[in-house]
Amino acid sequence: MRLFQDLQAKASAVLLIYTGGTIGMKESTDGQGLVPFDFSGIADEVPELRKFACRIDSYTFDPLIDSSDVEPRLWQQLAELIKARYDGYDGFVILHGTDTMSYSASALSFMLDNLDKPVIFTGSQLPIGRPRTDGKENLISSVEIAAAKDADGRAMVPEVCIFFDSQLLRGNRSTKVNATGFDAFSSPNYPALATAGISIKYNSRIIHYGSGRHRDLQISTSLDTRVSILKVHPGITEQVVRDILLGTETRAVIIETYGSGNAISKDWFLDIIRESSEKGKILLNVTQCLCGDVNMDLYATGKALKNAGVVSGYDSTTEAALGKLFYLMGTNNDNEQVKALLGKNLKGEISK
Ligand code: ASP
Repeated sequence: MRLFQDLQAKASAVLLIYTGGTIGMKESTDGQGLVPFDFSGIADEVPELRKFACRIDSYTFDPLIDSSDVEPRLWQQLAELIKARYDGYDGFVILHGTDTMSYSASALSFMLDNLDKPVIFTGSQLPIGRPRTDGKENLISSVEIAAAKDADGRAMVPEVCIFFDSQLLRGNRSTKVNATGFDAFSSPNYPALATAGISIKYNSRIIHYGSGRHRDLQISTSLDTRVSILKVHPGITEQVVRDILLGTETRAVIIETYGSGNAISKDWFLDIIRESSEKGKILLNVTQCLCGDVNMDLYATGKALKNAGVVSGYDSTTEAALGKLFYLMGTNNDNEQVKALLGKNLKGEISK
């Protein structure tokens, strides 16, 4: 068993994929404020990259986007790009805005199958061209992790991850928790896969090595995005709940509930849940709490949801639930089968 190994990257090749976001910005020379810089010159901005004994190539998306504008089309393009360049690289680093990074990392984790190379999302809170930027550290450590191999030549972390502020997190366990601090991401229900200090410590006991080795990378780019999110709150009206749960365009609803999966126990609420479920919609229960999981057997209000046809999201983040639904619905027309697969741990997204 490999435990807390700390290995130097050997000669490897990493593809740096720049999608946009704060990290790739610098002050324009004509006083126009922050503008994206040309990533082919990344080694001039971050000369430390030259010290790695690995080849770093870059690919820049056009147009570059603020990640608030991310759409599933970007995830499809990323999956296709990784598939097309897979054999030529040992790892991939995706520079991405922080706002939707957890959504993108979650979705990619389901879309890539038989992965045996690292796919590391990173970004920054301050542009790379600013003096106190967190972007350089995030980028340098991400490249090191993407290139890192063990003594047998296997990738240290063959998963879709987020690296931010010294922590390597499983992508589909991560969530953005800080709008302004450098510690922007957290993985409340799963420990960090690695931590960067003087050296990078890999927590190999909890990294998924999967079945990807010696198998071809498979990608699923068919996504069905007909999902709504209903966040229950005191004072929510019957009509609002009706509009979301019975929307004709909606195939699935993520219900963000209180605590361990509880919601309103009033008849009108449960009647709408039942009607929605009977119409065949997929209803998935995810807790509003940052930590812990859904247990619909604990309280009468949770039991009522379960009896009305709601399925448990266990300790899933909302971001992972969304990506999982897009992926499962995109590859499956049968809602009952989708419901059954939601209860399975597909890519380490739930503790089951
Ligand atoms: N709005 C930016 C984005 O998500 C923020 C960032 O990059 O951190 O693209």
